Amino acid sequence: MSEPTTRAGAPQPPAEPTDSRRAELSARAGKLDGADELAHKRAEFVLDDVVYLDGNSLGALPAAVPGRVADVVRRQWGELRIRSWTESGWWTAPERIGDRIAPLVGAAPGQIVVGDSTSVNVFKALVAAQRRAELADPDRTEILVDATTFPTDGYIAHSAARMTECTLRSVTPAEVPEAVGERTAAVLLNHVDYRTGRLHDLPGLTAAVHEAGAYVVWDLCHSAGALPVGLDEHGVDYAVGCTYKYLNGGPGSPAFLYVRRELQDSFDSPLPGWNSHAEPFGMRTRYEPAEGALRGRVGTPDILSMLALEAALEVWDGVPIEAVRAKSLALTDFFLECVGEYVPEGRVECVTPREHRERGSQIALRCDDAAEVMPRLIERGVVGDFRHPDVLRFGFTPLYVGFADVERAARVLAGVLAGQ
Ligand SMILES: *Cc1c(COP(=O)(O)O)cnc(C)c1O
Repeated sequence: MSEPTTRAGAPQPPAEPTDSRRAELSARAGKLDGADELAHKRAEFVLDDVVYLDGNSLGALPAAVPGRVADVVRRQWGELRIRSWTESGWWTAPERIGDRIAPLVGAAPGQIVVGDSTSVNVFKALVAAQRRAELADPDRTEILVDATTFPTDGYIAHSAARMTECTLRSVTPAEVPEAVGERTAAVLLNHVDYRTGRLHDLPGLTAAVHEAGAYVVWDLCHSAGALPVGLDEHGVDYAVGCTYKYLNGGPGSPAFLYVRRELQDSFDSPLPGWNSHAEPFGMRTRYEPAEGALRGRVGTPDILSMLALEAALEVWDGVPIEAVRAKSLALTDFFLECVGEYVPEGRVECVTPREHRERGSQIALRCDDAAEVMPRLIERGVVGDFRHPDVLRFGFTPLYVGFADVERAARVLAGVLAGQ
């Protein structure tokens, strides 16, 4: 570790943590777990004794999901068949589940629709934002994209810019206030950097984009379900996010799209499928968009994934996102402390900001041999992931990760780095 806990002039910590250090940290972990008001949530997930620190890539399975999916398949599909579109609530699932996600990202009901992938929703939101801006001012012919973005957003932005005949400029989130201007139509940003875990200033950057008269699209893949987002409070225009990370919806579960209420009437979707028609069963030749959030729908929703997600979201009942955030910060702080104690100085470098206001719910450690280290960690029951070229990524999902897990993960990491 570069900065954290080694005191100036103190002797180098040995590669093997001393028993007393380890005893002290284990005892602290026990105490923190004992006082953790979210600790009981772990029992609502299917887990084993693996330390699972990859919930920022694929959330663990909530125990209620298999039974629900079995019912959806056997009874709703198998017995009710076509009747389930109305009787089992299939048709309205995208809006209903959107409203279930809404409080987790600080949105009032009626502004979120679930469906399609994040990539597809980035496309819808970005083109809709550009169209809205251009309608008001045809000189707004530029799109800004987060230079540090998860790749898919960058590819989609590139294509959206070609289609709309806009220029595309890559800028870091920090450069946005300088870069955004009277030519800018829309700005696409990641709330949390997927590699480093850096949390960007959503309120400040949203205000800067608005000041320039442009629209902002936030990608919440690494913040939805991990920390308070405050979409309504901060006047965000459009947002997208995935549900298989911190929302535990399952592999490939559908993403969500938020369109601020005031922008819904002018939401001009580049993918106007029959599911977003004002009268979908009117089978009209001419497209006429529906009102409200469901204007973001496209085609027939993926009901099996959608209803698995709905069951998964039940683990959030009675869980304030603020409590999740507080525990997340405590977990990542404790992980950094344990890594600082156990891992030999200089062996890894933390690339996640120390400042809480700049930290998401993951810790990313740069390490020359990260590609070899991660498989060895996984063999020893500590599951994180590797991100090219040299990052060890550890995601902390407060609903099912505890402090004893954190201490064990750091200890196993130190052992692997010491070649044991
Ligand atoms: C995980 C992630 C995605 C994934 O997009 P899909 O379309 O679901 O594959 C997109 N953007 C960000 C920032 C992500 O972290």
